[in-house]
Amino acid sequence: MAQLGFHGLIGVGLARLVAPGGTQGDAAPVPQTPLGPVAGGARTPALADPAGNLRWGLVVGSILPDTDLFLLGPLYLISAQLGLAMHRTFTHSLLVAAAVLAYFRLRSSGGRDTACWNLGIGIATGMAVHSLTDLIVWFSGVDLLWPLGVLGLPSWVNFWEGHVNPPIVPKLLGAADYLAFALYYRYLYNRAQALGTDQAFVPRVHRYFQLSLALWVVYTGLALTPIAAGLFDIVHYAVFIVVFLPMVLQATWRMRSTLSAPGHGDAAGVRAPLVSRHR
Ligand SMILES: [Zn+2]
Repeated sequence: MAQLGFHGLIGVGLARLVAPGGTQGDAAPVPQTPLGPVAGGARTPALADPAGNLRWGLVVGSILPDTDLFLLGPLYLISAQLGLAMHRTFTHSLLVAAAVLAYFRLRSSGGRDTACWNLGIGIATGMAVHSLTDLIVWFSGVDLLWPLGVLGLPSWVNFWEGHVNPPIVPKLLGAADYLAFALYYRYLYNRAQALGTDQAFVPRVHRYFQLSLALWVVYTGLALTPIAAGLFDIVHYAVFIVVFLPMVLQATWRMRSTLSAPGHGDAAGVRAPLVSRHR
């Protein structure tokens, strides 16, 4: 199970916490360029919004680690053991999150492009928080320091070593993936309606919400039957990887304005800074 919608909502909560309001750097923790606002401002693209990028980056980073399932899905069908063993490895590594941060540091000319740098801080922080969350929930370990394990060094952390769930629990958690998606889409829908943002995509995100909720009911029903865990996983992950993983990435991309908006923004509060940024 991945509960990507749950991770998306954690990203939203993080954004509210660390960058609750404002645009163009008036959110509390937005790092400033060491060369001063003039140099940074000169390099910042006209439409860039450092605080908004930080907020959106936190949501994107919270979702990204589980895109390893794109690669591992086909592998799972060949070897379920290998597919499961590879999940929560390379995309869940704190070292990979640090490499992402380093990439954005270079890309932003050492942080002088604050919009680009804040996006990197958001994505890397979101990835790290996702991995640490996985340690606590979902009853399995994380290859937190991949690829050190490949070199024979300790890299896996597992607080659940030796813990065995009743067979029904993984199946119900798999079904709950769709409840988590539904809650994420419901949040996006409500927020966009309140802000007046991303209106072209709102009807679709509402359909995504309805579909997720329906599949939660269907999969919960299936989980309560005597279906073998392996077969349930194949039926569940096929839909998850082929349909729902692309959907959540699409919705997060298309609703960027909604996810970038300040936490306290209303329709007027969001639109006004956008207008001023276009000048
Ligand atoms: Zn994960």
